[in-house]
Amino acid sequence: MYYKSLIETLKDEDTDNRIILNEQVTDANNCYIDITLVPKDITICPNCSSTNVIKYGKKDRVIKDDYLANRPTFITIHYNRFKCKDCLKLFNDTLPSLNPKQSISMTLKLNILEDLKLDCSFSNIAKKRNVSIQTVIDIFESYVNFDRIPFGEVLCMDEFKNLKHSQGKYAFVMFDPNHHTINDVLPDRIQANIDEYLYKINWHEKDKVKYVITDMSESYRTLIHHHFKNATHIIDCFHYLRYVEDALNNVRIRIQSSFKNNSKEYKILKRNWRILSTYYMDIEGDNFYNHIQMKNTSAEQIIIDATTVHPDIEEAYSLTQEFLRGVRNVKYENAETWLNSWIESILKSNSKEFVDLANMFKNWKMEIINSFIRFGDKRLHNGYLEGINNKIKVIKRIAYGYSNFSHFRNRIMYMINSDYVFKMVDRSKISRRKRNHK
Ligand SMILES: [Zn+2]
Repeated sequence: MYYKSLIETLKDEDTDNRIILNEQVTDANNCYIDITLVPKDITICPNCSSTNVIKYGKKDRVIKDDYLANRPTFITIHYNRFKCKDCLKLFNDTLPSLNPKQSISMTLKLNILEDLKLDCSFSNIAKKRNVSIQTVIDIFESYVNFDRIPFGEVLCMDEFKNLKHSQGKYAFVMFDPNHHTINDVLPDRIQANIDEYLYKINWHEKDKVKYVITDMSESYRTLIHHHFKNATHIIDCFHYLRYVEDALNNVRIRIQSSFKNNSKEYKILKRNWRILSTYYMDIEGDNFYNHIQMKNTSAEQIIIDATTVHPDIEEAYSLTQEFLRGVRNVKYENAETWLNSWIESILKSNSKEFVDLANMFKNWKMEIINSFIRFGDKRLHNGYLEGINNKIKVIKRIAYGYSNFSHFRNRIMYMINSDYVFKMVDRSKISRRKRNHK
């Protein structure tokens, strides 16, 4: 959403007809408006509410406003200064939206703040709004400064590649998938630093966290054990699924490379890896080029032809499909039995690629089983983070040229927690935030 220009707002507010429009000039580049603000019949001192005030000279002010007639607009305001004879304070004549101390209208600032929610770089916004890059940065720093957001019942933890030249190679993100809110972003993923951060959060808040979703890093186990005493630890299902897919893929590559790369066997394995690693119920369409039969066939026929290339492929395919079926359909109550029997079957596999998964799946068995728990009508996973990671990539791209982690963090939280922020930049509640010079 965008805001009305200052001049329009002033006209709306001017119920007593105090604004006199002297001149409005539009040239090729800009729009210039010259107005006079006529004092009220009775002027009240804002300090002591006395009406015993006298005029104390005139003042002019040029305020840069947002676009009018598609041009950057400059408003010159002629207004009076007053002196209170009781408390001796000086003050300016004003309207609610008029701040004579500002050289940029609040409307322009609010619209720049709206731009900052989108995929625009500071320099693009500066160009678009005809202000300097420093002005955009100043506005961003003045109004957008996130405190951490308290945890909800569900907490996802993950990491992503940090900005170049930053403190840590990876940044650490905490996210509430229920409220689609980023709780916080830390500049590195060093366990001691995360630990210290979490120690500062009161136990009452941490004790309310019911589920924590992570990948299979041992450090998360320790953190959760220390800080989230009432939480169930869940391994993100996309994360462990990837290990199974990788095992299948590695078997495929091993078998495939035992064939010449112009052979039918090589081609059917190489070209159809996606069909092989997709849960068969999810395959869409039925017209795929079959390199064995040299014609279009159904996906089913491709699977038959590909898996008969080698018994290892056939076995790897059926282990993968059984895993995908289980993850999709097994209920939490039966998850342990199902997972135990799947682990038994990979231990008997001819492919080292699958046997090697057994230890990891045994080590994380409880946390994987926990991923079958339903929260409301949904399973809990980190999938929401994919969208966030995509946004972060965009932010990194538009952040080209600076490596200020505080900007980066605030921009991420600002662009993703947009609902939350909107309250903060509400016109009536707007207040200049303390500058952060870190
Ligand atoms: Zn006074």
